[in-house]
Amino acid sequence: MELEKVKSVIRDVYDFPKKGIVFKDLTTAFKDPEAMHIIGESLKQRYQNLGVTKVVGIESRGFIGASVLAYELNAGFVPVRKPGKLPADTLKKSYSKEYGTDTIEIHRDAIDENDVVVLHDDLLATGGTMAAAYELVKSMNPKKIYIDFIVELEFLEGRKAFPADVEVNSLIKY
Ligand code: AMP
Repeated sequence: MELEKVKSVIRDVYDFPKKGIVFKDLTTAFKDPEAMHIIGESLKQRYQNLGVTKVVGIESRGFIGASVLAYELNAGFVPVRKPGKLPADTLKKSYSKEYGTDTIEIHRDAIDENDVVVLHDDLLATGGTMAAAYELVKSMNPKKIYIDFIVELEFLEGRKAFPADVEVNSLIKY
């Protein structure tokens, strides 16, 4: 299966960014032309024909898959960024994650009630980052929100961080 190819080129980095964490390094998948193509095609196949208008990427590793998906769907790309990076008026949300706490921001005019949105990040760990991004986007009242990851660490049960009625997808599970 093609996704096995992607899995085979994801690198485990031990004790990064701190002791006890096994970091799933997707840069080794993104640099592999075949894996990069499979990721793009798999994302496109899942979301085509759903009327998606915006793909929201979470800084910074989420920007990669989100940009590819936005291009493939003829949708727009919207960044969710760390504090102080977005130049115009923003909405903010703080959250806790597998290692530490953080705040994210989105431009206040990035999404409207006519949008069908895919929220994308490279990896689901505890779900704290994406749950915060979901809250931000939800507050802008789009028609529909999908949540999407390339990798899901199922043992951390991050899906529990999202409302039960939201569709959550991941290509590769550990
Ligand atoms: P979380 O909020 O716990 O779901 O953390 C998800 C965010 O942190 C994503 O943006 C990931 O890129 C990053 N992350 C957390 N844990 C890991 C891990 N074990 N390997 C790779 N990235 C991780």
